[in-house]
Amino acid sequence: MKLTREEHRSLYEQMQKEDVPCSLCDSRQQVEILDLDKNGMPLRTVICGRCGFIFTNPRPTEKEMLAFYRTTYRGFYTGASDPAKDYNPDSRVYKRAKWICDFTLRHLRGRQAEDIRILDVGCASGILLNLLGQSLPAAELYGIEPTDSFAAYARENTRAKIFSGQCHALNHYKTPLNRRMDVVTLVHVLEHMYNPVQKLREIGEFLTDGGLLVVEVPNILHRDCDAPIKKVHIDHVSQFIPSTLRRALTQAGFEVLDEFTDTYAPGKRHAMTFAARKNVRLSGERPFPFLTANEFEAIYDVVKKKFVLRVNKTKDAPAKKKLTLWSRLKRKAGQLRKGANPEHSRSSE
Ligand SMILES: [Zn+2]
Repeated sequence: MKLTREEHRSLYEQMQKEDVPCSLCDSRQQVEILDLDKNGMPLRTVICGRCGFIFTNPRPTEKEMLAFYRTTYRGFYTGASDPAKDYNPDSRVYKRAKWICDFTLRHLRGRQAEDIRILDVGCASGILLNLLGQSLPAAELYGIEPTDSFAAYARENTRAKIFSGQCHALNHYKTPLNRRMDVVTLVHVLEHMYNPVQKLREIGEFLTDGGLLVVEVPNILHRDCDAPIKKVHIDHVSQFIPSTLRRALTQAGFEVLDEFTDTYAPGKRHAMTFAARKNVRLSGERPFPFLTANEFEAIYDVVKKKFVLRVNKTKDAPAKKKLTLWSRLKRKAGQLRKGANPEHSRSSE
């Protein structure tokens, strides 16, 4: 199922929304940078004038979003409905998981042979747990996954203990996961979270002191991404750039060990991957360094270039429509030349 732009718009209009301060620094100084998302929803994206955090405001309440995850989310993105696809080594998700597996192993530094405990929060089909399990035969593996069909698939295809349930309420898993973890992986989850610092603190409570957190999120201002609007949609309520991810981790009591923000890794597509270590001495409230006016202007210049460019392209819809029609006609002409039945093939489009 894929919704039309009109259906997206009406879905958004029915949702109850709230106006919020910046979830990194609590400031109300916000500048609007976009008033629609990639699906045509009139979502408002803002940048915080004090810390540079980019987020949706107003945003649907968390209750609305949890209902949305239960009913509409997986169907929203075509191709995200079949967990088996992730186990194909040629797929983007597999390549990404392989890369993150190797990145995680590098930061374990010789702990491979030990009996370590790993939790993948938002484990989807379980492909990352599967790959980690192959490299770390002595490891105990755990996963949390909200979509039942994906959780079931992960259960069948890994030796991990998989919990079905929302990643928004991590406290529920404290009792079943009674001992602390040595590693937590958080791959494309944090951008869905309403209060990322709070969520990272909760994740810190699952980790031993010195435990490793590997987190990957989209980098909304990645230098090679000329269409950041593609990363703007209703479930990405928190958008990160390297400086705001670093700040969120530091505020939550983590020490950043490594930042991979580079252009290309197989299947990564303008994301960034950080490795961080839980450090109990850093835990608790920490003074937050605000951006200077010059630092804010530098970020805002990139925002203007990247977003304005794309909005203008979007407004050029009639030309785009013509192009699609033209390529369809060309394809039809090709089929006629080959003697295929164009009506028959149309039905499978
Ligand atoms: Zn802020």
